[in-house]
Amino acid sequence: MQGGTNDQRNRDPMEQARPELWRERAITRTGALILEAGRLIDRAIPMPEIHFDLRGQSAGQMRIDGRGRGTIRYNAALLLRHGEDFLARTVPHEVAHYAAFLHHGRRIRPHGREWQQLVRALGGEAERCHDYDTEGLRTRRTRWFAYHCRCGDHNLSSVRHNRISRGAHYLCRRCGETLRAGPALSE
Ligand SMILES: [Zn+2]
Ligand SMILES: [Zn+2]
Repeated sequence: MQGGTNDQRNRDPMEQARPELWRERAITRTGALILEAGRLIDRAIPMPEIHFDLRGQSAGQMRIDGRGRGTIRYNAALLLRHGEDFLARTVPHEVAHYAAFLHHGRRIRPHGREWQQLVRALGGEAERCHDYDTEGLRTRRTRWFAYHCRCGDHNLSSVRHNRISRGAHYLCRRCGETLRAGPALSE
């Protein structure tokens, strides 16, 4: 959002990142990109089943069942940790896999030319693997806090959150702005 004419809503600086909000966002973003992908390959793509049960290093996974129906699994821990970045990279990555399968079948390479064209057209990056840092994801007690900048929401771990309370600054990698406490005002 440009302009900054929004009213300042009361922000709770200790507001914790809400996992259910990010799952909702991932579903919404997936739905929007499924529509867009359908226009690109000129056929309606059914909404895939979406699960958030992926663990470990993988950010996302797309599987096709015997009837050609897609299921996308997202890594909920990485979604929470990477927020907007996950929506901008992992969601188009997986949606492009689904669209590439529907358009070309199983004869293409998973991250080949056809997939790359689709993922770029969907605004993603044609990178084979995410380079997310998964270190620390196994510590169950990590809490995440909602921060924002001009370009969107960020979730910071309690470690960074505590450093900020002691005067540290973190910059958004995309817009360069200092991250501020609380969620962004609007979508
Ligand atoms: Zn892939
Ligand atoms: Zn930003």
